[in-house]
Amino acid sequence: MQTNYDIVIIGGGPAGLSFACSMIDTGVQVLVVEKSSLDAIAKPTVDGREIALTHLSLGILKKLGVWGLVDQDEVSLLKEAKVFDGDSPSLLSFKSDTSGIEALGYLVPNYQLRQALYSRVAQANNITLITDASVEDVDYCESHSNVLFADGSSIATKLVIAADSRFSNIRRKVGIPSLMKDFSKVMIVTKMTHTKSHLNTALECFDYGQTLALLPMIGNASSVVLTVATDKSQAVLDMSEADFNAKMMRDFRGELGQMSQVGERHFYPLVGVHAQTFIANRFALIGDAAVGMHPVTAHGFNLGLRGQNILASLIKEALTQDQDIGSKSLLNRFEKKHIHLTRVMFFGTNGVVALFTNDAPVIKQVRRFVLNFAQRFPPIKHLITRHLTESSKDFPTLKKVLGK
Ligand SMILES: Cc1cc2nc3c(=O)[nH]c(=O)nc-3n(C[C@H](O)[C@H](O)[C@H](O)COP(=O)(O)OP(=O)(O)OC[C@H]3O[C@@H](n4cnc5c(N)ncnc54)[C@H](O)[C@@H]3O)c2cc1C
Repeated sequence: MQTNYDIVIIGGGPAGLSFACSMIDTGVQVLVVEKSSLDAIAKPTVDGREIALTHLSLGILKKLGVWGLVDQDEVSLLKEAKVFDGDSPSLLSFKSDTSGIEALGYLVPNYQLRQALYSRVAQANNITLITDASVEDVDYCESHSNVLFADGSSIATKLVIAADSRFSNIRRKVGIPSLMKDFSKVMIVTKMTHTKSHLNTALECFDYGQTLALLPMIGNASSVVLTVATDKSQAVLDMSEADFNAKMMRDFRGELGQMSQVGERHFYPLVGVHAQTFIANRFALIGDAAVGMHPVTAHGFNLGLRGQNILASLIKEALTQDQDIGSKSLLNRFEKKHIHLTRVMFFGTNGVVALFTNDAPVIKQVRRFVLNFAQRFPPIKHLITRHLTESSKDFPTLKKVLGK
């Protein structure tokens, strides 16, 4: 059967558009289907998310020709990160200069990344983006798959990539089960200016009853991230600006001087998802549809970029050998290369969340022990730094740390 497009990507979010960028100049015809409007994709608005990119992600975005389209005046360097535990003196800190790297990570507003990804896709001849169109189902046949649209029309393709969010309908329709973790918490994010410098340091304070984080932006401004139980979130969202500013100054113990909210307070109910498998016949999951992370370790989009990069490399290899880009063996290799790390990151992150948001006395002791141990044992810090940054710099491996 003649297929209209070689690849159909469902979802024009950051993961779907990244994969589309990876296919530029490969000769394959790609269709991206996005259910929101062209305006929402082409001119995304500020959503309060500051994305901490790892070194690996930065490298991928540069290779895709996307990084050059990001407004560099909005990129801030993350030079140090400090983790505090409630009111205890325990502290875990990571510094880029002691690790021999320029920065632990690069903070970019999400809307900037989305805009840059769209601009890159819009330049390409082999990528077609249709908006205001929703995929309803995917139907597999041996030689191709049919993508069925909400309006009743359909398109045949060699490979379907679902990047339709952590709540992916298509994942369910294709019959892929997933593990879903509702944290029953809401993350409230907003931009604040302050009179003292943040020194390009990110703070993560696991206070009792709430988690508070600060991500350094350009100048004396930061993204403040407050995570509270769902039943407490409305009260925070309803607070007057003066009360919110006073609360933040109190919670950050005046470390940043006078603090003032600028812009809106955005909120995100926290649900984590891990699909049981990332593949089906002529079908692959990428981005949050494959693994939707709790944002505390800032790895969601980083993992999305990594996954699409692995898949794209295998497809390019198949193209050079004139092989089927939707073959079972290709998809199996993609899953094998990606799913192990995502499982470790997903369950590891959920473990950190469980440990640091449980205020039972015995758990508080464990938290302190973990932080003190990690802080005093440099190889562990280097190992965590390497995993957080995904930097290929010469940090010790687990084997070296354990002396094996
Ligand atoms: C507060 C917060 C902070 C974060 N910070 C970080 C960070 O520091 N570092 C990091 O790496 N990650 C971070 N993340 C995670 C990151 O934002 C996500 O991983 C990323 O946006 C996921 O992109 P996606 O394209 O997979 O999914 P989405 O952004 O959810 O996009 C899915 C797209 O699919 C479309 N769609 C859905 N269904 C259909 C359909 N049936 N047909 C057509 N289109 C469809 C939707 O309209 C949407 O545009 C953070 C997340 C939050 C909430």
